[in-house]
Amino acid sequence: MVKAGSNNNVNTYEVAQQQIKHAVEQLELSDDVYERLKAPDRVVEVAIPVEMDDGEVRVFIGYRAQHNNVLGPYKGGIRFAPGVTADEVKALSIWMTFKCAIARVPFGGGKGAVACNPAELSAKELERVSRKYMRNMVPVLGSKIDIPAPDLNTNAQVMAWMVDEYCNIQQYNDFGVITGKPLDVGGCIGRETATGRGLMYAVRAAADVKGLTLKNAKVALQGFGNVGSNAARSLVKQGCKVIGVTDIGGGVFNSEGIDVESLINYTRQTGGVKNFPGCEPIDNTSIFALDCDIILPTAVENQITADVARHIKAGIIAEGANGPTTPAADEILKEKDVLVVPDILANSGGAIVSYFEWVQNNYSFYWPEAEIEKQLEQKISEAFEHLYTYTCNCSDTITMREAAYMYAIKRLADTMKIRGW
Ligand code: GLU
Repeated sequence: MVKAGSNNNVNTYEVAQQQIKHAVEQLELSDDVYERLKAPDRVVEVAIPVEMDDGEVRVFIGYRAQHNNVLGPYKGGIRFAPGVTADEVKALSIWMTFKCAIARVPFGGGKGAVACNPAELSAKELERVSRKYMRNMVPVLGSKIDIPAPDLNTNAQVMAWMVDEYCNIQQYNDFGVITGKPLDVGGCIGRETATGRGLMYAVRAAADVKGLTLKNAKVALQGFGNVGSNAARSLVKQGCKVIGVTDIGGGVFNSEGIDVESLINYTRQTGGVKNFPGCEPIDNTSIFALDCDIILPTAVENQITADVARHIKAGIIAEGANGPTTPAADEILKEKDVLVVPDILANSGGAIVSYFEWVQNNYSFYWPEAEIEKQLEQKISEAFEHLYTYTCNCSDTITMREAAYMYAIKRLADTMKIRGW
């Protein structure tokens, strides 16, 4: 279980709004663009009463934020996490809009959440929470309106319960209402591993421009869930050496490299990386100070603070998590000339393969695995190249994150103008 929420009193929603304001100013666009993008179009908050196994009723709070749909239906995951707030969901919905704009998939941005701790729920309770969330959200969702997907602590099974609930209510099958489903209910081959594999393509492109060879490049990861473990696995295939991994329960370090496949098996058995044989322990902050080439924050928001950034030795950070770097840390990393591949590009592999899933659902025609892999590689590599060139053309002092916001906001502003918004 990964814990979400804000660290160090950084409000992610305010951060997202500042990022928009900054980009609008740099682009010298009208303030109307900021006003239009600074808050979601709609935020729905619902009470979800659920009967627990012991017969008691508990009421969970659920959210869905729909930020902007000028480029297509709202799109974005649903996270289950204790302490999740409306502000967090709003920020994440904003980032989805920009992510889809950069990846050039025809979606807007949305995000959902349920404030709950899935580790404390039985499978039946989890199913009831998932189904009830969907029942409450049916009026605002749809395959042409708003399409959820997995996020922190949700997975293909949760999506299966939700899509089943939706189809039962509508009295017809419309699998395209949700992506990240199991294969038998219209899922897409490779969707589950797509964010991690996409992150590898982003790292590969970043290494290329930095003149770093991936063979024997040292990698450290904070977070070893779906994104982290699949990214590590893919990077090892490229010749990288994973030297440090942490998760919420602890961390492990070995300068000679960790056997990632064995670590994945170990976490399946024990629930975490802690005490993996042959390694020294390391904590969730020290992991960032390791003597390595590439850092992958693949957990939650606000992990790389200014303090953490000061100790970073790696030349590349690729953000698998959403919003892992605070604005103050960004300033320091810019001074240190660390190439930060921003979340809205680096972790877009999930959203991209979600798009492939949705297209296949709409056509009821399913592609072979090789086609999906080829298209994912192409989309991320093109998005990186495009954004990197755009960054270099903007000015010497601009970061890839600033350029990403500018690029996405320009696209959105142009489309809103054409549509007469
Ligand atoms: N939750 C993932 C993200 O933050 C995937 C979203 C999607 O596939 O819609 O990018």
